[in-house]
Amino acid sequence: DLVKARRALLSVSDKTGLVDLARALLAAGIELVSTGGTAKAIAEAGIAVKDVSDITGFPEIMDGRVKTLHPSVHGGLLAIRDDAEHAAAMREHGIGPIDIAIINLYPFEEVRAAGGDYASVVENIDIGGPAMVRASAKNHAYVAIVTDPADYARLTETLAANDGATPYRFRQELAAKAYARTAAYDAAISGWFAEALDIEAPAWRAFGGKLETVMRYGENPHQKAGFYVNGDKRPGVATARQLQGKQLSYNNVNDTDAAFELVAEFDPARTAAVAIIKHANPCGVAEGDSLREAYLAALACDPVSAFGGIVALNRLLDAEAAEEIVKTFTEVIIAPEASPEATAIVAAKKNLRLLVTDGLPDPRAAGIMAKSVAGGLLVQSRDNAVVDDLDLKVVTKRAPSDAEMVDLRFAFRVAKHVKSNAIVYARGGATVGIGAGQMSRVDSSRIAARKALDAAEAAGAGEPLTKGSVVASDAFFPFADGLLAAVEAGATAVIQPGGSMRDDEVIAAADEHGIAMVFTGVRHFRH
Ligand code: 5GP
Repeated sequence: DLVKARRALLSVSDKTGLVDLARALLAAGIELVSTGGTAKAIAEAGIAVKDVSDITGFPEIMDGRVKTLHPSVHGGLLAIRDDAEHAAAMREHGIGPIDIAIINLYPFEEVRAAGGDYASVVENIDIGGPAMVRASAKNHAYVAIVTDPADYARLTETLAANDGATPYRFRQELAAKAYARTAAYDAAISGWFAEALDIEAPAWRAFGGKLETVMRYGENPHQKAGFYVNGDKRPGVATARQLQGKQLSYNNVNDTDAAFELVAEFDPARTAAVAIIKHANPCGVAEGDSLREAYLAALACDPVSAFGGIVALNRLLDAEAAEEIVKTFTEVIIAPEASPEATAIVAAKKNLRLLVTDGLPDPRAAGIMAKSVAGGLLVQSRDNAVVDDLDLKVVTKRAPSDAEMVDLRFAFRVAKHVKSNAIVYARGGATVGIGAGQMSRVDSSRIAARKALDAAEAAGAGEPLTKGSVVASDAFFPFADGLLAAVEAGATAVIQPGGSMRDDEVIAAADEHGIAMVFTGVRHFRH
């Protein structure tokens, strides 16, 4: 079960933590063997290390394309130590066993993400590294393979606890991680080819390759969960820097993504905007001259639901906005940037997570979305339709006023990010009632109106804010009833895709009530 470590091979592109590790291994009485750059880094720190050429008797050739691809290395990694024939072969060819392999690969993903040219991306496909990783992992009965600098501490602690040996279970776990790494590495390479050649990308690319975080649990405490990232560098929850707060939970990541994708629909050059999200649905969204103003308007839509919400902003989080946000219990704040003053204000709430992204994602960008179903994966392109690009058609006798038109666009922009059936009431650049996720559009309409009534009561306002509002529907009204529910709530203008068999009935009902209605021709189902 325990294998005493006598010799380690180190060959790493990411040299993080390398010198400390080499020192600790040497102190544990382990001989070090290493490739060119790795050996140089270790030797420069004054630590004794052998060059791999010394054991292969062969120099590194072809710009490092061939350096460890040699029987002396692979025999040392793959030999079954207590097999008589393997032992004889080792003696005959002068092959010494390698008990620990410390390997991380050429930075293919990084070079690709940095927009490296074709030749340099290809040159960064590691060949000898994955071969050694896979050989070591196959022979985990004897070899410990470490592919992630984050595991160096665990390795040295394990060696210290076991008198310089590694336990079987530990080697098994490392092997599992090693194959996950080589699988993700090859997935990244084939994904790059698919993109470069514009051929069909494998569906699993949408899953992402690298396990970024193991969460305490999933959607519920009895479920296990992890966050896998695919190397996509666009600003968002996967690439954000967390400035403070507890680790993000599974639900936090899901909701933060929904919040940030929504707020990114608002061009920061035109307006400040804030979205507050609960259970992946907005409970308030607003524009404003400042983030503080937008936040207060978003909060007013549904202050009860905003408790424990996720707040996304489309501009640098400033002190004024931060001061307002911390007054309500909030799980996560995500913004492109945060001022030092705002960061200090948020710091007073120890658990509140603050994420910065260095930018906003482009709502028009193409992309690929996946959802797992029993026995498979549903894959589709991203919903990158933006209301500003659509050809809006007025279908009623009355055309919307300019002010109504501004709010109609706003409401449809938000409706794209509300679970279907979605109904969004808006007034003055703020949502005033949101109905989400109902099986009937009429119910969504009624719930949204009811929420507006509650908000008005809470604010001590006489009339619900839906009076004189506009309303957006993510999909067409199949009957006039949904529209009539909105009219009853006080909406004066409607935006919806249109395209129902009964459009005529719906238009007639609108005309009868003096409602202005526009069709977008684009539907925004979201499930
Ligand atoms: P170094 O910086 O030590 O010169 O190179 C370390 C890198 O070389 C590691 O990322 C390792 O995976 C990679 N590597 C080791 N052996 C070979 C080989 O034979 N061919 C190629 N292409 N890469 C190798």
